[in-house]
Amino acid sequence: MGTNALNSKYFCLYCNCKASLRWDMNKIWNNTENTRCERKSPLFPAINQKNYIPDELHLFLRISDVLMECLFADLIKKKEFQKQIKPAVELAFKNIKVHFKFFQSGKNWNWTSLMGPDKKKTLKEFPVSQFIPDIHGKDIEKLWREFYQLYTILHKEYLSDQEIDQFKIDTQNWIRMFYRPTQGHMNSGTQIPGLYRKDDVTLYMHVFAKHVPQFMRQLKEIGLSLRTFSTSSIEKKNHNHVCLFFGGTTMGGGTDGKSVVYNIMSFENHQLFYLINNTPKKIIARNIDVNNKES
Ligand SMILES: [Zn+2]
Repeated sequence: MGTNALNSKYFCLYCNCKASLRWDMNKIWNNTENTRCERKSPLFPAINQKNYIPDELHLFLRISDVLMECLFADLIKKKEFQKQIKPAVELAFKNIKVHFKFFQSGKNWNWTSLMGPDKKKTLKEFPVSQFIPDIHGKDIEKLWREFYQLYTILHKEYLSDQEIDQFKIDTQNWIRMFYRPTQGHMNSGTQIPGLYRKDDVTLYMHVFAKHVPQFMRQLKEIGLSLRTFSTSSIEKKNHNHVCLFFGGTTMGGGTDGKSVVYNIMSFENHQLFYLINNTPKKIIARNIDVNNKES
């Protein structure tokens, strides 16, 4: 998906949907290619367009980021955020055994970036409705839980045709719920509050609802699933790699002001230098005994 500029008018790798209509779930978009956007040359010219498969892990991570950002942006705006809401949210995370903290960077509030498994737990268990009152909070919590359910289907190794059809309907309805406007009259008692704006719908959500069900069907025909193409194993390896060097996750940057990549490269450069120049990597201490003539 990264070959087009994010602000381009035609943003999608798989169709000619206009960016301004990415929220529209009533339109049908077939998995073909984007012929409207003046694109940079393909990243890998040897790979046929048909073989660019969306990555389920990144779809999951980016869409869960949107859900968390939408919730926290609302909470941070409240005047009691720092004194009351912040500690309560951090405690709620502690209760579901996810390490999470808000921290200030400049004038803005930021929070711990969560890894995949913690994000899954958060979407599945975080008590959203404790922090947003009434039906509005319950609806947002439902949005989180349903997205988690949709992800578990996305991640399945085998899907029946009915499951794929249902997934298509459910993802579109999920996005319709995401940008649902306020219904009914203000203060009428029957008013159903809206959730988020159409503008908050991201290109990942468009791909999730409009293209993923078609990919599921196409891959099923050749005996594969989206899971086959997941990058989660590479991400895991990457995480292990980082842990090896730094003894823990470094999401959010290194601790000495240099980037993680810089530190890893620097470490590896040292290792190469030692290897090329035959530098001993350990110190061998020898005790010399004056009474022993052989030493
Ligand atoms: Zn598209």
